[in-house]
Amino acid sequence: MSTFNDLGLNEDLLHAITDLGFEKPSEVQEKAIPLLLNSEDDLVALAQTGTGKTAAFGFPMLQKIDIDSRTTQGLILSPTRELCLQITNELKLYGKYCKGLNVVAIYGGASITDQARDVKRGAQIIVATPGRMKDMISRRMVDISKIEYAVLDEADEMLNMGFKEDITAILSHTPDDKNTWLFSATMPKEVAAIAKNFMHAPQEITVGHKNEGSKNVTHEYYLVNSRDRYQALKRLADANPDIFSVVFCRTKRDTQKVAEKLIEDGYSAGALHGDLSQNQRDLVMKSFRNNQIQMLVATDVAARGIDVDDITHVINYQLPDEIETYTHRSGRTGRAGKTGVSMVIVSKSEVRKIKSIERIIKKEFQKKDIPDGMQICEVQLMSLAKKVHHTEVNDDIETYLGDINTLFEDTTKDELIKKFFSVEFSRFYNYYQKSADLNVSASFDDSRSSSGNSTRYFINVGKKDGYDWMSLKDFLKEILELGRDDVFKVEVKDSFSFFNTENNLKEKVLAFFTDFKHDGRFVNVEVSENRGRSGGGRRDRNRGGSKRRDDRKNSSSRRSDSKSKPRRSNSGEFANSRPRRSRR
Ligand code: ADP
Ligand code: MG
Repeated sequence: MSTFNDLGLNEDLLHAITDLGFEKPSEVQEKAIPLLLNSEDDLVALAQTGTGKTAAFGFPMLQKIDIDSRTTQGLILSPTRELCLQITNELKLYGKYCKGLNVVAIYGGASITDQARDVKRGAQIIVATPGRMKDMISRRMVDISKIEYAVLDEADEMLNMGFKEDITAILSHTPDDKNTWLFSATMPKEVAAIAKNFMHAPQEITVGHKNEGSKNVTHEYYLVNSRDRYQALKRLADANPDIFSVVFCRTKRDTQKVAEKLIEDGYSAGALHGDLSQNQRDLVMKSFRNNQIQMLVATDVAARGIDVDDITHVINYQLPDEIETYTHRSGRTGRAGKTGVSMVIVSKSEVRKIKSIERIIKKEFQKKDIPDGMQICEVQLMSLAKKVHHTEVNDDIETYLGDINTLFEDTTKDELIKKFFSVEFSRFYNYYQKSADLNVSASFDDSRSSSGNSTRYFINVGKKDGYDWMSLKDFLKEILELGRDDVFKVEVKDSFSFFNTENNLKEKVLAFFTDFKHDGRFVNVEVSENRGRSGGGRRDRNRGGSKRRDDRKNSSSRRSDSKSKPRRSNSGEFANSRPRRSRR
């Protein structure tokens, strides 16, 4: 293993590295820096987030450019404003002893004329988001015709975000004989295409496997009913008192909703999504960086810029639509040599996605149980005890010690401890005392038919109408506007069929089909008596009678109640918000 001194970097840079406290180069730095310093080759480097890619291209670029010249020689494209600013700051730190160095950040949402003026002053390096860069080129505010080094940072993210055309346009304004260095965490075919079309025989560096997740991250999943997602999230937070996390949701709306609920429930949380103004987003990020927010609830797009090093947990409140996105989410933790945990709260209809993700990240998930109330109380109590133990004593209390001592004259030490801890702890205890078990049985295929969480329906279309199970499933998903795995166990007979959904969709499904015509005939859907696939799902002979349907509903809900531990209505867990607690 080499040191920074072995890589061929000059004194000014090594001096800065010492100041930064970097002891040894990371793997991508060790491989990329000598290569970039000693050759004029293009480079494709694949490495996870948090592996030190900025320095891997930053140091060679700083060493290779001519600082005495005012010409723009280096261009770094990066997907977001956040990253753009981060890279700029890092480069300034790396180049703090390079006299005359001028690095300028160019990004949307700030004054374009100010940025143009900064560039005009003689920026040797420009760090830019593609959108703003293209704007400035078309307004002739920048000249990148003499670029010698172009970096595409987080190339996969830039393409994901739809910057392909912008990047192409920008590169067309740069000289053909420049060097292009492409950095990416993953190598989808779009990135490969960029490498092929815009680079000349690039060298390739891979740190870890392609598309592989960070080594420092462990992956866990928790199987719950969809409706218990939020409760599960709270428990995971409560079971980890020092959590510092990003919670990923699929939509802006869910992001906002979950954050609001968390705040209402006494957590230090914040929302980050595209419907917020730049100002609001900056504020949230600032609080997060300062550790004032413990749970940052974010959409994938909004979280792209987050490079905070000490995130302990990534929580997938919902899995992403594209499972590849999971790599990016989990890469937010386990950065800069620290360990991290990526947790997935998953419902039965999505649990098979876990297997697909395992194949992509080449790591296994641990299936874990949502901690029960008493486990959480124990964790909270011990955490409190440790906090008290480490608390620095405020000497001004000395004045009151006499009076307090008189008050506790007859109290033993044990009793005193119990009393003190009860002040903080009882609220947790009362809250969780009667809490339900949120875990759902693991074998999802069986559980779908046996645990009473799904509903089986009869529908009066079948093979005669041209359906097979796949086309019927697609048809149902489309007209009901359901997700990929929401309709399952589709079984098509000659003139009728069966299918299942989770119970929580039952009302929606039945309401939709009360008066639904397709190809000129009424399509009738009813709850089938037989819930599972076995036995073919006998059609309910008593269908139609509303009274009977009600009876059936009651009996089935009773059935599931007797099987499971007390649920929300019994426990009161959902009626009250969790106890407020003081944080940091
Ligand atoms: P990436 O671009 O791969 O996601 P960054 O370049 O943002 O990663 O680096 C992640 C963090 O690690 C930054 O805070 C950076 O200062 C730090 N870092 C980079 N190289 C080293 C090193 N050799 N030793 C210690 N810390 C480093
Ligand atoms: Mg980076």
